[in-house]
Amino acid sequence: MTLVGLGYDVHRFAEGRKLILGGVEIPYALGLDGHSDADVLCHAIADAILGAIGEADIGHHFPNTDPACEGMDSLEIVRRAVQLVQQQGGRILNIDSTLVAEAPKIAPHLTAMKANLARVLTLPEKRIGIKATTNERMGFLGRKEGVAAMAVASVEMPE
Ligand code: MG
Repeated sequence: MTLVGLGYDVHRFAEGRKLILGGVEIPYALGLDGHSDADVLCHAIADAILGAIGEADIGHHFPNTDPACEGMDSLEIVRRAVQLVQQQGGRILNIDSTLVAEAPKIAPHLTAMKANLARVLTLPEKRIGIKATTNERMGFLGRKEGVAAMAVASVEMPE
């Protein structure tokens, strides 16, 4: 049977942090705050995968009180979500996602993000969508207070 899952995440900008999206370090004055590397795109994708198979969200699997998760590479979180699917005899069919950020410019980094995600998702790049948009200068995203990401995952599972 084919299942779908939805993921959403947002992190605020903070000083003294790296900006990492889709496992790519993007040059910018600010990074995203968080316990792990705060990679919103990876978090949204992992939650979409976990949601598709009825698992608890990444906050449950990777609690921010766990010292082992501190500074964690979030591509590893995606990899673990994929492993959960595979352990249950399933496979991921495709992922689609959108990043929402007023700054910096995301588009030049999409190719590198897709290559990283293809590796951990073990999917061809044509099965992975990553898009970027601004928030048209409206609201907290429009004021450059942070970055949001949303994702859907389609997963094939045994009955
Ligand atoms: Mg997060």
